[in-house]
Amino acid sequence: MANQEEEIRAAAFAWLEDQTKLNGGAFERNDLINKFYYHGQNITLIGASGIWFPKGFTIPISITTTSTGPYDDGFTSEGLLEYRYRGTNPDHRDNIGLTKAFEQRTPLIYFHSIKPGKYVAVWPLFIVSNDPINLKIKAAINPALNYLQPEIQPVNSAAFNIRESDIGVRRYITAVTKQRLHQTAFREFVLDAYSRQCTMCKLQHVELLDAAHIIPDSEKDGVPIVQNGLSLCKIHHAAYDNNIIGITPDFTIKVRENVLSEIDGPMLKYGLQSMEGKTLILPARKTDYPDRDRLARRYELFVA
Ligand SMILES: [Zn+2]
Repeated sequence: MANQEEEIRAAAFAWLEDQTKLNGGAFERNDLINKFYYHGQNITLIGASGIWFPKGFTIPISITTTSTGPYDDGFTSEGLLEYRYRGTNPDHRDNIGLTKAFEQRTPLIYFHSIKPGKYVAVWPLFIVSNDPINLKIKAAINPALNYLQPEIQPVNSAAFNIRESDIGVRRYITAVTKQRLHQTAFREFVLDAYSRQCTMCKLQHVELLDAAHIIPDSEKDGVPIVQNGLSLCKIHHAAYDNNIIGITPDFTIKVRENVLSEIDGPMLKYGLQSMEGKTLILPARKTDYPDRDRLARRYELFVA
């Protein structure tokens, strides 16, 4: 089984990668239970226990955290994920599974719950310290491993692209991981607020929808909160980011003058020009409305 376990693990990572292109990285619990198949056999990636073994597995495939808030990502300031044993008995099967994953340097998937039934996935995750006395482990995303424990080389390092590491790489990986968790959570909350449609054109194909920032996240106020977000289809997102389309503080859509006078095909006519003067389709809850002050600041850029 050991070899097959590794194969299934690698196949699961590839499946997660594929699905991320469709769901933006936020996974439905049901899909994690029902949709991953290996050679025609359904393998569950998440289960009743936070430390999850698919049927027949000797080492867990995933660990899951239920968050206490959308941006509480479970990572410590040193950039490691801290995860508690199940209960207080280090010899419980689940905890032995964690110890084995540590000893055999087996990569896991980390599922972080961002709301009931929805998870962001991070992988491959390696356990870099095991503490049976205090009943917890610490884990890191892939390349961090070398830096933290230079003597440890994962058995299958080639398969998972482990390369020479330094503190810069570790910081980078931590930042990317946190960013992925936060961005995915932001997208989920914004899309939900807008009933999963473009606030300008009503398009409802979620794979074509983005959560756009009103004030970009590179700026101080560019925080990932729903009031700084807009649910936009890819075209309207790019048009908004490039100031082809603007939004006034009272939610009216404006199209740049030189674009209004162009003559071209249907995308220009219906996709852009026909938006002029329309009002945004706003969230159901008033508390989710885009923030007028932020819209105003952003609109100044459009006018300029
Ligand atoms: Zn749109």
